Amino acid sequence: MISPKKVLIIDDDAEYRALMGEVLGMEGWRVLEAGDGEAGLEVVNKEHPDVVLCDLLMPRSNGFLVCRKIRSDFTLRHTKIIVTSGRDYDSDRLAAKEAGADEYLTKPIKPYDLMALIARLTDDTTIMTRQADVTPTGPAKPARMKFWGVRGSIPTPGPGTVRYGGNTTCVEIRAGGEIIILDGGTGLRPLGRELLAEFKDQPLNVTLLLSHTHWDHIQGLPFFTPIYQPRCRLRILGFEGARRGLVNVLTGQMESPYFPVPFGELPGNIEVDELKDLDFPVGNLKVSAWFANHPGICVGYRIETQEGSIVFFPDNEPHCSYDEKGDVHSTRKDASLEYAHSQEAKMTEFIRGADVLILDAQYDRAEYEKHLGWGHGCVDDVVTLALRADVKQLFLFHHDPDHDDAKIDQMLAHARQIVANAKSPMLVEAAEEGRVLELVKTKG
Ligand SMILES: [Zn+2]
Ligand SMILES: [Zn+2]
Repeated sequence: MISPKKVLIIDDDAEYRALMGEVLGMEGWRVLEAGDGEAGLEVVNKEHPDVVLCDLLMPRSNGFLVCRKIRSDFTLRHTKIIVTSGRDYDSDRLAAKEAGADEYLTKPIKPYDLMALIARLTDDTTIMTRQADVTPTGPAKPARMKFWGVRGSIPTPGPGTVRYGGNTTCVEIRAGGEIIILDGGTGLRPLGRELLAEFKDQPLNVTLLLSHTHWDHIQGLPFFTPIYQPRCRLRILGFEGARRGLVNVLTGQMESPYFPVPFGELPGNIEVDELKDLDFPVGNLKVSAWFANHPGICVGYRIETQEGSIVFFPDNEPHCSYDEKGDVHSTRKDASLEYAHSQEAKMTEFIRGADVLILDAQYDRAEYEKHLGWGHGCVDDVVTLALRADVKQLFLFHHDPDHDDAKIDQMLAHARQIVANAKSPMLVEAAEEGRVLELVKTKG
């Protein structure tokens, strides 16, 4: 037997609780009651109700505070909140939504309206409908991406990095009405500011895809200001880290020895979902993941947009390395060449035909000799891999903290020379902070 769904009515008016309880009970709901906000929160924590019907003005924790408290707890992310009030001020309505309420109803409430609303809210298509709510209307805009952080390992501000930039990994993609952020390095901070400036007091809905949880890919998150805004919803997707799980890794970097605001107390609506499947949708976009050759669990993503595909492997060491004579070696001492070839073939298939490939090219060949097996690419091997996969445009990425603009220019020139020698039409660029790329649909 399926256990009945639970609704909690928090209201200091006992008569109202009894009335609404009767209506909901007749519809098959298990009804829980609390007479004030604090008592209500206790029941919420114990019972994890599907729906909370919460009065706005009550003694001991008002409706806004109840909303905030519920929204700060991941385990309650599926709980729907309907704020009820005898007042009909637009400012209350807005504040309730900002605090995390799904809906606001003015008393007296007609039972039919309440049931219709609950049916709509508990139909589990919430993520997509929320996204649709904030998707700007008008003609669909072509897919666009922007580099906000292109550096590997650690931020490197200073006169030597002004052109390519010093922020760590962060790329924004706008496609199919979605805002997708690839990795949360320090580039996430200026991106957050720009998103808030753009969306002002409108709801903001963002999906953050994490390649892995090395620090240069998550350290911008505590400074991503949308997480401090109740009107913002951030969904973080990634694969489980080596031992502790994604939520624990992300909350860990915000524990009190490192940061003043605990993750669980952020006012924004944040969901952390560990991915299980390698193929999954973000809104209407098809996204797939594949494993990178990098320490720990690290993946790259491929996003299919109307205008073409974007593939992102910020940290990766190609499995095969080609020396000056063209001889091929396995880049892992413990792995045979045969194994390296089979892994390389899978990677090549995953990135095949990409319109844009953003790929780790941290080292030049001489540096790479000293960093074999560290999990980062050598520009020669990276270009070879992209050529073999018939990629249209390659961005050298995850620039070494010790590389200044002049060094990256040299590496780019070298990469272009390899492409010219191969007589390939592939475009090569070095990823540059602030650079915007609009994807253009190619024929055929
Ligand atoms: Zn990295
Ligand atoms: Zn890494």
